[in-house]
Amino acid sequence: MSTDRPGGERERGDFIRAIVAEDLRSGKHASVVTRFPPEPNGYLHVGHAKSICLNFGIAQEFGGRCHLRFDDTNPTKEEQEYIDAIESDVRWLGFDWGEHLYHASDYFEQLYAWAVHLVRAGKAYVDDLSADEIREHRGTLTEPGKESRYRTRPIEENLDLFERMRKGEFPDGARVLRAKIDMASGNINLRDPVLYRILHAAHPRTGDAWCIYPTYDFAHGQSDAIEGITHSICTLEFEDHRPLYDWFIENLPVPSRPRQYEFARLNLSYTVLSKRFLLRLVNDGRVRGWDDPRMPTICGIRRRGYPAEALRDFAAMIGVAKRDSVVDVAMLEHCVRDVLNRRAARRFAVLRPLKVVIENYPEGRVEELDAVNNPEDPGAGTRRVRFSRELWIEREDFREDPPKKFYRLAPGREVRLRYAYLVTCREVVKDAAGDVVELRCTYDPATRGGDAPDGRRPKATLHWISAAHAVPAEVRVYDHLFTRPDPGADGDLLADLSPKSEEVLDGCLVEPALAEVRVGETVQFERLGYFCLDPDSRPGRPVFNRTLTLKDTWVRIQAKGQEEA
Ligand code: ATP
Ligand code: MG
Repeated sequence: MSTDRPGGERERGDFIRAIVAEDLRSGKHASVVTRFPPEPNGYLHVGHAKSICLNFGIAQEFGGRCHLRFDDTNPTKEEQEYIDAIESDVRWLGFDWGEHLYHASDYFEQLYAWAVHLVRAGKAYVDDLSADEIREHRGTLTEPGKESRYRTRPIEENLDLFERMRKGEFPDGARVLRAKIDMASGNINLRDPVLYRILHAAHPRTGDAWCIYPTYDFAHGQSDAIEGITHSICTLEFEDHRPLYDWFIENLPVPSRPRQYEFARLNLSYTVLSKRFLLRLVNDGRVRGWDDPRMPTICGIRRRGYPAEALRDFAAMIGVAKRDSVVDVAMLEHCVRDVLNRRAARRFAVLRPLKVVIENYPEGRVEELDAVNNPEDPGAGTRRVRFSRELWIEREDFREDPPKKFYRLAPGREVRLRYAYLVTCREVVKDAAGDVVELRCTYDPATRGGDAPDGRRPKATLHWISAAHAVPAEVRVYDHLFTRPDPGADGDLLADLSPKSEEVLDGCLVEPALAEVRVGETVQFERLGYFCLDPDSRPGRPVFNRTLTLKDTWVRIQAKGQEEA
């Protein structure tokens, strides 16, 4: 496993791992048990990946185990599609829960019995106030709440009503079960929180067995206790819920006493990490689906061509802190480039083709030239690329009037065609509209492979494709989904969606080896970036997604930071 987790050393320093290490050292726990508890109401995103790497990572490093538990207490928003996607995403990230797959719904009977236990102990009551009234009674941060007039109901009456709630005698919203804690508490979560609500809705797992469902707060800690979770790790927004979490653990005959620890959620620049908003993008047709390559979902990231290893590296690099911050998305992209640079095969592809005819190259002749598959990985070997009289080059690699510092092809100028020959542009052919449609060039036969015997070295090396052998392809060029690093800062997320986040290029041409790529495989198009074969590909008609360009802005940001320091 160690080779799978570069950066693992850096991870070890965070405060949660320090707590786990101390609990094991002191003998408080014999082994560590964590869990990842998604609600199946959407697809997982890169923020969840941070939590997955943390929970499963700790279990791995300390020889414990991590459970996958679906927090499926709200049947109106949860679907089997999400459950299946979550399982496959966690596996893709490289983690395995073994036999430890659980659902909060597995515990509905036990949770109900514990609710009855609280009622019997005079610590919970059935409230007939409407949802609006409950809200009005709750008070504010500065004002205490008001007790409900049903708060003093006799225990027997509460038991009877709660049982009838379960039996389905009342419509949705007619009554709730609340804990009787303290309406004047400084912590609003302790002002008689709702434990059960009536919801006549079928559940993906329990069907019509229930028409009352526990709240997140009533289900979560008790589920942890049932499973023997030692460290219940969640994001900071649950910090204020911890006293309630502990109140249930103290007031119920639970089989173990888990403790909750909070860490800062991941926020990423140019990115929105909210399942609700991502669902909206999907439903409004703003993207190609949950797995659109621009989405920050794990399945979108995978379709984009990001390797799982890069996400794990990223999680290790950002670490775990107690204070909220925004991580520069360039850091995630850096981790992706780092892995792909080592792994991705180099190939030739021309996105916006311009025809080149080598006038002094014999008609009908085809040569095979050796091309290196990956300079970072000698084991990847070489392949043969075909060269002939008519070629395609990238349109932007030619300028009729080259500006200063433009070293690529121009009239009269010589450049190197990678792995092939030095060629010189002799003539520019234009159409009636004055657009350049073809370049007439000559080649120097003595420069086969790209080196001139007299040592002359052109300033530019271009990629190219033999016209007779090129395979047509569609390439989807992706950029950030949002125009600004802090989407929604002006109050309207949709207004910040970038109109240029996807550009579909139709007339691209790629080398024949690219017809062999598997869906999901990421290659480097030389000089252009990393590209991943999309599931929309058809035989003879590959579709590639641009994963990233080659330019690593994170390295620049870091270098600048060091200069300033
Ligand atoms: P969202 O806020 O995107 O709707 P959520 O918190 O409602 O997500 P859950 O399914 O409840 O989604 O989350 C499962 C786990 O993932 C929780 O423990 C939660 O704390 C964690 N998590 C969610 N978002 C992030 C994030 N941005 N960074 C780190 N962990 C996260
Ligand atoms: Mg949540």
